[in-house]
Amino acid sequence: MARYTGPVCRQCRRENMKLFLKGDRCYTDKCAVERRNYAPGIHGQGRVKVSEYGTQLREKQRVKRTYGLLEKQFRAYFAKADRAKGVTGENLLVLLERRLDSVVYRLGFASSRNEARLLIRQGHFLVNGRKVNIPSFIMRINDVVELREKSRQITRVNDSLDGVMRRGVPSWVELERDAFKGTLKTLPVREEMTTPAFQEQLIVELYSK
Ligand code: SF4
Repeated sequence: MARYTGPVCRQCRRENMKLFLKGDRCYTDKCAVERRNYAPGIHGQGRVKVSEYGTQLREKQRVKRTYGLLEKQFRAYFAKADRAKGVTGENLLVLLERRLDSVVYRLGFASSRNEARLLIRQGHFLVNGRKVNIPSFIMRINDVVELREKSRQITRVNDSLDGVMRRGVPSWVELERDAFKGTLKTLPVREEMTTPAFQEQLIVELYSK
């Protein structure tokens, strides 16, 4: 599956928001948004009046980039969220959080969604006891994701788990650190999806034009 392979911090600077794409570095003062809080490029520090369309577009780009998706994939998720019952914007975020790479990241097996995707593709995880190497796999309530026995010595996974033990996991997942497994307990709760803070209704407005 195609994906963006350019510099990731540039994406955060473009969106003027920390998107937490680079793992532990995002929590330090080495973060590019902290150090150079302006858009990249020659006109990055210029004053630009942003139109309503521009605001909506930027919000869509923020969500898309946070979850590491390209336009076509993102559109497909939006269409699915639109067809489902409930509030479309909220459905969209919940759907994206149910992706296996998001759950693996939220549980702390990886320090970023990019790293989670890589680990999943390399076949390090089981879902309900069966090997799954598809990052876009959608988890259901009570699905259990587990690091395979032979993968439990990977240093970066253990470092990342130690980090998340300090920071805590969101309420919709439950981590059993010693067993290297975690469960999707409930559907992700919108009120708790605060990092990064999205205004998903702007995306609905953009796609409704
Ligand atoms: Fe880079 Fe992370 Fe800071 Fe974004 S939040 S600029 S990915 S260090």
